[in-house]
Amino acid sequence: MTAATQSKPRIRSVESVFQGRPATDGAGVKLTRIIGSPEINRLDPFLLFDVFESDQPGDYIAGFPPHPHRGFETVTYMLAGKMAHEDSAGHSGVVEAGGVQWMTAGRGIIHSEMPQQAAGLLRGVQLWINLPAQLKMSAPAYREFDARHMPVDVRAGSEARIIAGTSSAGHAGPVQGVITEPLFADVSLSPGGSFTEALPHDHSVILYVVAGSLEVGEVPLQARQLAVLGAGEVVQLIAGADGARVLLVAARSLHEPVARGGPFVMNTREEIQQAFADYSAGRLLDAPATNQE
Ligand code: FE
Repeated sequence: MTAATQSKPRIRSVESVFQGRPATDGAGVKLTRIIGSPEINRLDPFLLFDVFESDQPGDYIAGFPPHPHRGFETVTYMLAGKMAHEDSAGHSGVVEAGGVQWMTAGRGIIHSEMPQQAAGLLRGVQLWINLPAQLKMSAPAYREFDARHMPVDVRAGSEARIIAGTSSAGHAGPVQGVITEPLFADVSLSPGGSFTEALPHDHSVILYVVAGSLEVGEVPLQARQLAVLGAGEVVQLIAGADGARVLLVAARSLHEPVARGGPFVMNTREEIQQAFADYSAGRLLDAPATNQE
């Protein structure tokens, strides 16, 4: 045991709070881009955090027609409404509120994500999580789970649905075995309730407030804010008078060079150029799969 593990665990404080900025993506879907914006380009290993939320069909109906990805994972978690998806590896499905689609693009995939509704509220988040160099050209993979598959970690004053990883109380979410060891939890706090969770110190931690208000350290957070937490070993959320619902996402930093080019995220400019060349030549999906894990 090292001195560091013997000392009192540090509670992670809020390092910064972001509101994001309006963006349009796909065939004209209005969304709020929080990570991947000029304010916060990335937070290793998180490359992008988008929120879509509208009850105006014109804001979302055009969806995200077929487009490619290479070199990372895309995670779509639905809060309201239905999103249908389909990809070049033969997977398809519909994700509804409380459901997740976890896609590993690896060497390449082409997919579409289209709202499965013509009216009503569509709300959800999309997160991009980077892959390390040795898995960027791995075979694509895909997982989808609905809300029934998420165990609920019930505690005094809180309930956490575990989507990925395993909570300290031993509740294992359906998404396991991801290289960046994510914990993805949808935490509901009763008024004044708290939620405390130990997380590895080399994990980046973000909170997205779905509803209500809370405090982390002395910092108040409100609905639709994204907080980046600072160094420490423990996360502690304390809800305000109306309770709160928060997405907590933690994942291990990769500490590798990042080269971005639209839908591709690699380690070098040359690899990005290769991805565009492969895509325009129609051989994005034919690249030999390597998996040196
Ligand atoms: Fe996509």
